[in-house]
Amino acid sequence: MSVFKYQKDADGIVTITMDQTGPVNAMNAEYRQAMAETLDKLEAENGLAGVILTSAKRTFFAGGDLNELVAVKRGEEARLQALVEAVKAPLRRLEKLPVPVVAAINGAAMGGGFEICLSCNHRIAWNNNSVQLGLPEVTLGLLPGGGGIVRMVNLLGLELALPYLLEGKRIAADKAFKAGLIHETVESLEELLPRARAYILANKGNQDAAVQPWDRKGHRIPGGVVNSPGMAQLIPGAAAMLAKTTRGLLPAPAKILDCAVEAANVDFETALKIETRGMVYLTLTPQAKNMITAFFFNMNKVNGGASRPKGIELQKVSKLGVLGAGMMGQGIAYVSAMAGIEVILKDISVEAAEQGKAYTEKLLAKGISNGRMDEARKAAVLGLIKATASDEDLQGCDLIIEAVFESIELKNRITAATEQYLAANGVWGSNTSSLPITRLAEASSRPENFIGIHFFSPVEKMPLVEIICGEKTSDETLARAFDYAKQIKKTPIVVNDSLGFYTSRTFGTYLDEGCRLLTEGLHPVKIDNLGKAVGMPVGPLQVHDETSLELSRKLHETWSNIGQADKWGERDAMHGVIDTLLTKHGRGGRHWGGGFYDYAEDGTRNIWPKLLDFYYRADVDLDEQDVKDRLLFRQVIETLKCLETNVLRSVADANIGSIMGIGAPVWTGGFIQFVNTYGLENFRARCAELAASYGDRFNCPAVVVEKIARCELFT
Ligand code: NAD
Repeated sequence: MSVFKYQKDADGIVTITMDQTGPVNAMNAEYRQAMAETLDKLEAENGLAGVILTSAKRTFFAGGDLNELVAVKRGEEARLQALVEAVKAPLRRLEKLPVPVVAAINGAAMGGGFEICLSCNHRIAWNNNSVQLGLPEVTLGLLPGGGGIVRMVNLLGLELALPYLLEGKRIAADKAFKAGLIHETVESLEELLPRARAYILANKGNQDAAVQPWDRKGHRIPGGVVNSPGMAQLIPGAAAMLAKTTRGLLPAPAKILDCAVEAANVDFETALKIETRGMVYLTLTPQAKNMITAFFFNMNKVNGGASRPKGIELQKVSKLGVLGAGMMGQGIAYVSAMAGIEVILKDISVEAAEQGKAYTEKLLAKGISNGRMDEARKAAVLGLIKATASDEDLQGCDLIIEAVFESIELKNRITAATEQYLAANGVWGSNTSSLPITRLAEASSRPENFIGIHFFSPVEKMPLVEIICGEKTSDETLARAFDYAKQIKKTPIVVNDSLGFYTSRTFGTYLDEGCRLLTEGLHPVKIDNLGKAVGMPVGPLQVHDETSLELSRKLHETWSNIGQADKWGERDAMHGVIDTLLTKHGRGGRHWGGGFYDYAEDGTRNIWPKLLDFYYRADVDLDEQDVKDRLLFRQVIETLKCLETNVLRSVADANIGSIMGIGAPVWTGGFIQFVNTYGLENFRARCAELAASYGDRFNCPAVVVEKIARCELFT
């Protein structure tokens, strides 16, 4: 029996209900067979009045089979092309049926799922939050290869289609309707199939209803074809914009643009062939393999709870204490109240705490002005936050997170003073960005209930939370911290205690290498430009100005005080530069009036002229690839060391943590996945070259050598 249920009624309407094995419908071998068989049957039908395509699952259709795609290797292009064609050709047959085909979209239809919808003559979707539509392939380094590019361009025209194709956004049903991507919405699921039937019955005998716009005689692409005057500006403009935003590091957007332009230039069938070629090309790029690994497989693992201890019941936080209503505390209070958690926001005075609460009010007001929030919800969220200066208000909290100044003494003091207010078996979390959790837990009478919950700034925008287990942290505590992170809709990675944990420690190598290049005489602007050229969001010197040299100095001081400053090995370049800039010249970073750069009121920045006097040597010209590799490899090597020493507990956590917490370039798929597609042998060889030229910090970590010996990749 087919996994596509086939039901013909007395009016000649066939309803196809997709119900593949497993939790979702996906474009795998089972789908291809079911679709081909269904089409054979439909084409052979007598008295067919119309076809309704719907799904038995909560999602309408999940998209392509990524396992199948990542497994394809170079040399298998013909097989891959056949796979793409085996999806594409049936969709063409579907839209060529001589009767109206209606997509009754009862759940999310992303990627391949939306391509199926585009191949239907009429699209009706349930107007519900769970119904998201779109073509997100670009975010995985791919393109919509089932005819999605060609149909979108023919439907909307090049200009309007490009944002959907290049940004890969999810669109809600009502927005999709307004944008002309679907034809109707229904307010309840029960209305969906009757409405689809009604459409078919109402269009009995209407030939146009069975023909796609692009197959009608005289079809013109909205906005015009490639050589029309409007397009003459649009196409080069889009290409220039892409070159700027991707810095030439991501092949997918450029290939999508090529295919879309061709779709507006050649006939429909040829455009489909060009799209297939583009899909074959992209699937085999290392960038696609990296992005699929990180954003699909690793992300599913991380969010699916692979790092959460098993067998512990899911728990929710109902009352949260936040100590310190500064930059971080106020953000933690906001995201928690937004998730419906009662929050006690405590600072040294009620005024300071109220100021922290005002941050939530400001964000909520912004939400109202852009239509994402209403007054009733605003009042409800604000009502959940109590600003206070009194410890007693913390009574009964099932989680307390401290976000006071970065001082061991202060943190120890407040732990000892307020831990008593936790509910039975309540958890204590520290948002420290650098202090060892095991050390902080010494102030606790229940160190097994003590854990690091490291947020990133700004809390409401940054999706990652780094959970840090101290030596004594229990599995129950970890599970509760993990569940809290999910409750506030963050992505949690779990690491073991180490100075700077995983993210801060690895990010520090980027700053250090930037300083090292500076002391070697390279022009500072060149250093920052090459950092960006490798795909980091900001160059190492500029980002150091943002995070502040003062913070780096303080960290070093703190670690010296606890006798661990030399734990990370070579970081002397950074400290020398900090000494010159900050100690001698008061250049602490952007918020301190300037650092490596001077900042004008209008936001423009220029290199601080004395920096050039101190460091720049016109005769120094390092090989650009070496500089780029140095900036990247330092971070990759640090990540590998974290894996080797069990600071990182999983490859998935490393990849997701590096991208979301450090800004690892997306094309790498994260700092460990990068090694997989760079090739472990190649990586070892390149490390050896860099070490020979620039020092032992580039020595290849043993964990890579071990993997090579076992012929394994990092998974
Ligand atoms: P901040 O200076 O903005 O805020 C600290 C707040 O703590 C102040 O409002 C202060 O009044 C309050 N405070 C001090 N003593 C207190 C006490 N005894 N009881 C209650 N409140 C008290 O600092 P921040 O940037 O929000 O950082 C807070 C913590 O978060 C630090 O440990 C920091 O390392 C960590 N962190 C910061 C960032 C960041 O980007 N700023 C990122 C991650 C983690």
